[in-house]
Amino acid sequence: MKRFASSLVLCFVALGLQMVSPVIAAPVIADIQISPGATSTRIRLIASEAINISAFVLTAPDRLVIETPDINFQLPPDSGLSSEGAVKSYRYGKISADRARIVFDLASPLVPGDIVKSTSMGGGAYIVSLFLTAADRQSFDKAAQSSALSRLSKDAAPADIAALNQDSRPLIVIDPGHGGNDLGATGITGIFEKDVVLAFSIALAKKIEAQGQCRVLLTRDQDVFIPLDDRVKVARQHGAAVFLSIHGDTIASGVDVHGATVYVGDDRSSDAEAAKVAEYENKADSNGGFSPQPSDSTVADILGDLTLRETRTRSNLLARELVTRIADTAHLNRNPLRAAGFRVLRAVDVPSALVEIGYMSSKVDLDQLTSTEWTDRMTSRMTDALVEFLNPPNMAQDLAKP
Ligand SMILES: [Zn+2]
Repeated sequence: MKRFASSLVLCFVALGLQMVSPVIAAPVIADIQISPGATSTRIRLIASEAINISAFVLTAPDRLVIETPDINFQLPPDSGLSSEGAVKSYRYGKISADRARIVFDLASPLVPGDIVKSTSMGGGAYIVSLFLTAADRQSFDKAAQSSALSRLSKDAAPADIAALNQDSRPLIVIDPGHGGNDLGATGITGIFEKDVVLAFSIALAKKIEAQGQCRVLLTRDQDVFIPLDDRVKVARQHGAAVFLSIHGDTIASGVDVHGATVYVGDDRSSDAEAAKVAEYENKADSNGGFSPQPSDSTVADILGDLTLRETRTRSNLLARELVTRIADTAHLNRNPLRAAGFRVLRAVDVPSALVEIGYMSSKVDLDQLTSTEWTDRMTSRMTDALVEFLNPPNMAQDLAKP
């Protein structure tokens, strides 16, 4: 762990120099973690930047290849030597001035699926997760064949790779609420809000990645505690175009209130109920055993009221877009667009919203929140809303470039 931290510091120092020097320091990969499962495997790259990767498979012998931009590999010396589930071993290295590969020898066929990027616990590192599923011989061979074809056309246009590394698509930061010691609300079935919103957020991130017009970063992709202000910091430091926090509502009384609500940040609450929800969500830090510093108003002072007003207008547009799009999927709360003083919605310069996707205290909602079919529909609607809100200009033209 010590070693990992120091290598990241070194890398950041090098990146700092990059501003005055044309030499660009390569991102560091400090660890590769393989988590085998019965039908699927997850490979996580622990990196100093949110690097773009691609994955494909090769036959005879069966291999999985992860291709990355140029990487400064700083892995423990025995990395890749021992077998983990379907992965027998792996090796890594540069294949050209600007590309590197990690090659995994497979004991049984696995095909690559979604790629999800997130920040690590406490920030400072990035996690790029590749999800793989077990496949039969025939589907594996087919996957190998089609990736060979697509690489042929890709290798013919190296400009595409450069374009990928300078990814200019707008960044959406998705923030699954709570985590670690901070459980959030407990559902009537005993399930925790932190788990429900994490599963939902990962599904949403995958949906946005698949849609292709925006980049996405998760503030957490596992069960860890992250202070509220750090979540906001992730969005600001990366110049996110949108920050979206995902939560599950609860009510103390036994009345079966249900439905989704979209919140924007404001010093004045739209109503008493909204104020109560914000007060509850703002307790996340103390629930997680963390005492936050008093919030820093200097940033707001420097950027001025104008920026804040502009951001709030944009946040309202975003919230309205979300409410409109999810109306046919999520039974909407009586007053679905509300405002309150959420600590996590305090970025002065990043349009932000918080979606309570349903009530943990409602059986109807909880059935939906844990259904893959509903999650699929809801994440599609939200992706549409985000893309519509960001409406990246000339996207079709960029893709059509030779
Ligand atoms: Zn919550």
